[in-house]
Amino acid sequence: MEKLAILGGPKTVTASPEDVTELLRWPIITKEAEDDALAVLRAGSMSDTDITCQFENEFAAWQGLRHAIGYCNGTMALQAAMFACGLGSGDELICPSLTYWASAAQVFSLGGTVVFADVEPRSLCIDPEALERCISPRTKAIMVVHYMSHPADMDAIMAVARKHGLLVIEDVSHAQGGLYKGRKLGTIGHVAAMSLMSGKSFAIGEGGILATDDRTLYDRAIAFAHYERNKPDIIQTAELLPYTGLPLGGVKGRMHQVSAAVGRSQLRLYDSRTAEIRKAMNYFWDLLKDVPGVRAHRVDEASGSNMAGWYRPLGFYEQQEAAGLSVYRFCEALNAEGVGVGPGCNTPLHTHPMFSEMDIYRHGKPTRVALASRDVRELDKYLPETERANARCYSVPWFKHYQPELIQQFAQAFIKVSLNYDALLAGDLPQARQAGRWYFYKGKNEK
Ligand SMILES: *Cc1c(COP(=O)(O)O)cnc(C)c1O
Repeated sequence: MEKLAILGGPKTVTASPEDVTELLRWPIITKEAEDDALAVLRAGSMSDTDITCQFENEFAAWQGLRHAIGYCNGTMALQAAMFACGLGSGDELICPSLTYWASAAQVFSLGGTVVFADVEPRSLCIDPEALERCISPRTKAIMVVHYMSHPADMDAIMAVARKHGLLVIEDVSHAQGGLYKGRKLGTIGHVAAMSLMSGKSFAIGEGGILATDDRTLYDRAIAFAHYERNKPDIIQTAELLPYTGLPLGGVKGRMHQVSAAVGRSQLRLYDSRTAEIRKAMNYFWDLLKDVPGVRAHRVDEASGSNMAGWYRPLGFYEQQEAAGLSVYRFCEALNAEGVGVGPGCNTPLHTHPMFSEMDIYRHGKPTRVALASRDVRELDKYLPETERANARCYSVPWFKHYQPELIQQFAQAFIKVSLNYDALLAGDLPQARQAGRWYFYKGKNEK
């Protein structure tokens, strides 16, 4: 085998930068989406809700749920879901720590707090077996994140929720349209909420959406942030009727109609595009099936589950199969071959001082504790898989098109690096860098 590129050998990925850019380009905005967005601008209807309501109806039908509500972003949709579930003063939300902050942080502004639960090592989604320990008399809801498109173990999670009378919110920001044992993600818990921002696989621009079959949750989610739709001809929940006219959350969550217009055309193409992404990504991982140290973060489709739009694909790195070579050095060597990978995934939230120390609202103690009836930080010591995750995984290229010859080049680079790990051991600096990030999206003009 040829010498590794990092040691002066030739690069494995020889495709032109233009071909690689096309293979990875996202989002894809069609002429139709441009025209629909322009029509909103020309009509001056950016703040109206007619197109948004059409998008909501189409989205609900696609999702297979009765109700959907658009929001200005996923953060607001998730906060509305938390409010809908009744999370308020002193209540606890159980959430993985290995996620983006907007799965959890908004609960503080509702007067509640967050208890972090560990994740499963293969899926990196919340571990149903870790839930019991986290539950207290103040627990209201469980936030499930289908992390980097991998479906969480919903059967086991719903069983725990039923046993303890808890509501389940699915954060589907990474996995729109994905399946768990043949059922659509977002339809298994009591309410789904998700981001549709430009970096996600369902990309419409700034925007988020909530979907549910439950009329009371729907009404509460409307009343929270949609003042102009919080009115008696929409709201059916009796306890909310005396308070129509103003938003109960004191916030405004309306979706921008340019986003809604783009969303309608993205929805029409979404399933065929994500089917092609899954074909491309599965092809890539199948090429690497027996390569030492290399494992896919994916689900076996024979189970009726799938990886949705395969948002930000991850690989696992099994260090013990490669004499302890670090994921950092492994990634460096792959990048020298022309691959474009990065060590780690999300930095666990419990390690950020906003969650561990900060007194955000001047209660006189850390907010996360001040809003609870116990020191919920005690549970942070039971997060071993969460804390191990960043040294085990790395992002791999997110192929949008099934182009076998191109994808083979990338797979070949993995094979070359994996079979030559001993040549990399000498230059390894396992403790030198910090993997993991608070967020991934960068503006197109940001460095
Ligand atoms: C992106 C994301 C969100 C937040 O969505 P925005 O639209 O950026 O507000 C929430 N949860 C997860 C898991 C996300 O990745």
